[in-house]
Amino acid sequence: MELGNVRLVLVHDDNKPRKLKHNLGHPRILAFGGAYSNLIRALAGAGREHGVETIGVIRGEEHLPLNPVLAYARACGMRLTYLDRAAYRRKHTPEVLDRLRAEFGEVFVLPEGGSNAAAVRGCAELPAELGDDYDVICCPVGTGGTLAGIAAGLPPGRRAIGFSVLKGGGFLHEEVARLQRQAYGEATANWSIELGYHFGGYARTTPELDAFAAEHHVERIYVAKMLYGVHDLIRKGRFEPGTRILAVVTAQPELPVASCDSPTGFDSGEPRWRR
Ligand SMILES: *Cc1c(COP(=O)(O)O)cnc(C)c1O
Repeated sequence: MELGNVRLVLVHDDNKPRKLKHNLGHPRILAFGGAYSNLIRALAGAGREHGVETIGVIRGEEHLPLNPVLAYARACGMRLTYLDRAAYRRKHTPEVLDRLRAEFGEVFVLPEGGSNAAAVRGCAELPAELGDDYDVICCPVGTGGTLAGIAAGLPPGRRAIGFSVLKGGGFLHEEVARLQRQAYGEATANWSIELGYHFGGYARTTPELDAFAAEHHVERIYVAKMLYGVHDLIRKGRFEPGTRILAVVTAQPELPVASCDSPTGFDSGEPRWRR
């Protein structure tokens, strides 16, 4: 797409399988997530594919019948358990973790959003698959692992812009730097985060964002916020004329209903390019 005098190309790439790739060396892995969590879904599929036992700790109460994400996770063999909201907030405290270990045995626990050093290294593999025909790469930011990795994997002279989907995302600057230090010993200086496109906060929306998502046929929680932000920065002249922008589309607008026979529950495969 030519917008004014910059070029914007969308690249489809699911980030959760990348975040899991280097985390799969454990026999039993536990992850936390909401009832529609992309991480829960990706971990269930990857566990099935790689022979890893998986446990999904879901925020809130059990609702039957299971929604498509959790039904898929179950079909892949993931064990599901639930934490009320208060306990979920304390999920990384020793008392909650000890309780989970008493129930499920010794487990490797993924942090919120799956963002750890191994996840950063997995996401850092994306830029090498994208050639070099771009100046700026844009992605949504939830917990920051994806931006931390993409920025770390960039060739010289390129930069990354993350778009926070959280309200009050200022802490993400330190978080992304921390994740890069954890993975590589130092943080890079080639990224920034836009904080003004959260539309009310995580999973919140507005009529304007809904209309944008419908018009562009993109997923709302992450992708629409990023893409709206990219269009807005272009409109405001924040990019030099001729800038080549790649936007990483990390999810599809509708949840594909997958059986656990399709390896990851995602429509994965080669990155697909769209103009
Ligand atoms: C998890 C997720 C993100 C955010 O990734 P972080 O590494 O947590 O910042 C972006 N898009 C989609 C679709 C996701 O599921």
